[in-house]
Amino acid sequence: MKVLLRYSSVTSKEPHIAKVILETKAMINIVRANVSPVGGETVLDVSDDKYEEVVELFRSRGVDVILLPDPILLDEKRCFQCGVCISACPVAALRLLEGWR
Ligand code: SF4
Repeated sequence: MKVLLRYSSVTSKEPHIAKVILETKAMINIVRANVSPVGGETVLDVSDDKYEEVVELFRSRGVDVILLPDPILLDEKRCFQCGVCISACPVAALRLLEGWR
């Protein structure tokens, strides 16, 4: 399950991810990270069996945790099939279908 962690200028100074992994033995994958001394964000993929424990521990340490049950949702009403996102995807997960959809 994916979560978004938001750090402040205080919480960004602590190695919270390392401490939570050591404490829970959870399998955690860092999907995306953008953290500096003034704060930042990290997206984690947390193993289902430890998910709730991990979320609680981050919150108990003052880290803002946003649950990402459905990380990517396409707003079909707003999408006008321009295809820009296809080239933006770093892993080529998007493609054009017949009829340029
Ligand atoms: S960038 Fe992708 S999601 Fe956005 S409008 Fe174009 S095709 Fe649709």
